[in-house]
Amino acid sequence: MTTLGKYSIGVGDRFAHQAKAQLEACILAGKAGVDVIPVWNKSNREHLIIDSEPSSVRTAADAAVAELGWKLPYYCDADHINVTTVDRFLTSCDFYTMDVADYIGKAAERSSIDAFVKKHPELLGTVRMEGADPGIEITADLLSRTAAKFLFAVQEAGKIYRKIEAAKGKGTFVSEVSMDETDAAQTPAELLIILAAIADEGISIQTIAPKFSGRFNKGVDYVGDVIQFAREMALDLAAIRHAVSNYGLPANLKLSVHSGSDKFSIYPAIYASMKEFSTGVHLKTAGTTWLEEVIGLAEAGGDGLALAKEIYAEAYAHSAELCAPYATVIDIDPAKLPAPAEVDGWTSEQFTGALRHDRRSPAYNQSLRQLIHVGFKVAAKMGPRYLGLLEANEAVIAKNVTENLYARHIAPVFLGQAAS
Ligand SMILES: [Zn+2]
Repeated sequence: MTTLGKYSIGVGDRFAHQAKAQLEACILAGKAGVDVIPVWNKSNREHLIIDSEPSSVRTAADAAVAELGWKLPYYCDADHINVTTVDRFLTSCDFYTMDVADYIGKAAERSSIDAFVKKHPELLGTVRMEGADPGIEITADLLSRTAAKFLFAVQEAGKIYRKIEAAKGKGTFVSEVSMDETDAAQTPAELLIILAAIADEGISIQTIAPKFSGRFNKGVDYVGDVIQFAREMALDLAAIRHAVSNYGLPANLKLSVHSGSDKFSIYPAIYASMKEFSTGVHLKTAGTTWLEEVIGLAEAGGDGLALAKEIYAEAYAHSAELCAPYATVIDIDPAKLPAPAEVDGWTSEQFTGALRHDRRSPAYNQSLRQLIHVGFKVAAKMGPRYLGLLEANEAVIAKNVTENLYARHIAPVFLGQAAS
């Protein structure tokens, strides 16, 4: 049985050049006393935008693992796939993020909703969960409304799961259900009901990615009420523990936090609630590494800085098109975006200062950062010119990639240290 470890980090590597630098961050974690399992995730959307194949992620991960002598497990995640897009990930991936957000709200057959409600009288009234007094209240109306809202999506996840299982074999892969890319957050009560439905569907999930309240914009800090997030996360963890013991879901089932990079203000809450519930978390980061590539290029100066400026100018010129697929997960203030002509005159320090996620720095510009975050298509179009400069400046880029993942993500989330 393939079992994902307690602590894991999703590391996206859009251009398949940073696997080694990313793995170095997990090695640093091990030296600091915590095993953090690397999962190389790349969504179908990113593969389409970049025109890459899932096998390239596997090749890069295998090479990094061999070169650095990594002995713990590692995975390749077919991120945000569905029943129609999963096929080309079947050979190279061993982790599947089944994205059913688009099916939320689509009505399941009345008979299956009624059958679900009838099967789960234990979900009615006050559901007492260890570690979450006084428990959560679920009325008959809430139960049937929640079933009506999510059952179809869970059935869809079941179809994807069975397709993967038929191709790869039972127990040979990690599966996650994601519902994060939607408008409304799921409450802990909804999460519990969803988990009961997932268990009924026979999906052996090890991670679940709900949408939390607040905004999880790409590459920038959390926007929302941190205290409320902490309360909600504790209830989610209680709901997960309850579902594991009552519905037979895998004992290592844990939360997956999508768009999890750079959410510095909630990392202390994530760490504290993991400790409270003796559980782990899967922290998904992706674009933060691509941003470190651009930071490294800018820091290198010369051709690297020139290319970083060109990427910004192109992203600026095509911002509407680049932002469209990410509408629910970015918040760019166009008035805060400097004109490309101005950026053209910047030094390395000015460029990296604006782009690097240092909350204390007055130069940090989160609109610029988000625009470049979604602008990787620009680099993809540059093809060998971009990749050539990545290779020429490998050392400075790798340093930024490793340091960002370790000091700003792994240390605060898994070691409870202040983000540096
Ligand atoms: Zn996601």
